[in-house]
Amino acid sequence: MKILVLNSGSSSIKYQLFDMIDQSVLAKGYAQRIGIEDSYLEHKNNRGDKVKIEQEIHNHNEGIQLVIKALLDQAHGVLTSLDEIDAIGHRVVHGGEKFQQSTLITDDVIAQIQAVSDLAPLHNPHNLAGIAVCNQIMPNKPQVAVFDTVFHQTMESQAYTYALPYRYYQEYGVRRYGFHGTSHQYVTKRAAKVLARPLADLKLISCHLGNGASITAVKAGKSIDTSMGLTPLEGLVMGTRSGDLDPAIINYLIEKENLTISDVDSILNKQSGLLGISGISNDLRDIQKAAREGNKQAQIALDVFIYRIQKYIGAYFVALGGVDAIIFTAGVGENESNIRKEICDGLGVLNIKLDATSNQLRGEEACISTIDSSVAVLVIPTNEELMIAQDTKKIALRAT
Ligand code: ADP
Repeated sequence: MKILVLNSGSSSIKYQLFDMIDQSVLAKGYAQRIGIEDSYLEHKNNRGDKVKIEQEIHNHNEGIQLVIKALLDQAHGVLTSLDEIDAIGHRVVHGGEKFQQSTLITDDVIAQIQAVSDLAPLHNPHNLAGIAVCNQIMPNKPQVAVFDTVFHQTMESQAYTYALPYRYYQEYGVRRYGFHGTSHQYVTKRAAKVLARPLADLKLISCHLGNGASITAVKAGKSIDTSMGLTPLEGLVMGTRSGDLDPAIINYLIEKENLTISDVDSILNKQSGLLGISGISNDLRDIQKAAREGNKQAQIALDVFIYRIQKYIGAYFVALGGVDAIIFTAGVGENESNIRKEICDGLGVLNIKLDATSNQLRGEEACISTIDSSVAVLVIPTNEELMIAQDTKKIALRAT
């Protein structure tokens, strides 16, 4: 069984084609700068071929057509016919409260995704565009929506309710939803395997630290709290997003600088976080380099980033009633041993001890704490695409 996984963003489409017999990746790549000049497609196959196709990609339709062309190409393709694709899995960012699990896409489901798109105007419309194009090009194949929010639907009301007039929740769905759910679910499942213990017995804190960053408390395989909220803006300090702040700052800045609502939106989402504090970059590698060279703002950015993570770990330790393992994943979590060390150094009260040698490992599943550490510390490379492919397989098989 072959499954195509698509992640359609505003100006990009990422894809992976899986052979579900052994869950191997036959090909993967991304179309970038869709609708902007200098667009291109990068494609790799399982024979080691890598191509970059530079051509105008005006919209998602042209983007997905180009992906299919690359998959069927005689030289670097991996399929002889589109018939070989059995199902398509789509990442959909926001499922609101409507979706409690991954779902076979029907006209009704599309209408329901549209209905919650208000909550994720930057994401859901692009996810829907990908679904519409696939419906057109491959009308008879099962398509499955896998939502970033679903894993967190197990949160209880004390974790998801904002202390606002309750009618905003009732009328507009203003509550905390959480994101990166597919990643948190994947790494916590893997953690149980690495620890050789049943997931049902474990209390885990999963730190997804990439350009977007979130942290989740997982008890017996269920999300009980997570740092992102109504949108992915809440919580940790991110590449360009502020994370938590005093909401009164917004009014204060509007008055001070005569800002519009859309200025504020752009400041909080695109000009804040590591970029905002450091004034250098949203990329943690650049900031670490600048801090080493003595740049004070870069050092402050790192300190705030790390301190915020430690605070959430402390809060989730209490929410879970203890913790068996802390998991690091995504770009920073998987690769930055210094950051992992600094985070854990501040968690002395939990009697966490890192093993300096195993903490140097990169990009592989590993336990990086010592045997006598009270809490295990794990690095688990995330694989949201595989998780989407697995859900898609399950649901597509049920549908056929
Ligand atoms: P996104 O949220 O865009 O998927 P990633 O998970 O790719 O983000 O993480 C990007 C962050 O990871 C950047 O801050 C980058 O500095 C950091 N990082 C550190 N080392 C690496 C690495 N070897 N490869 C990719 N990103 C890395």
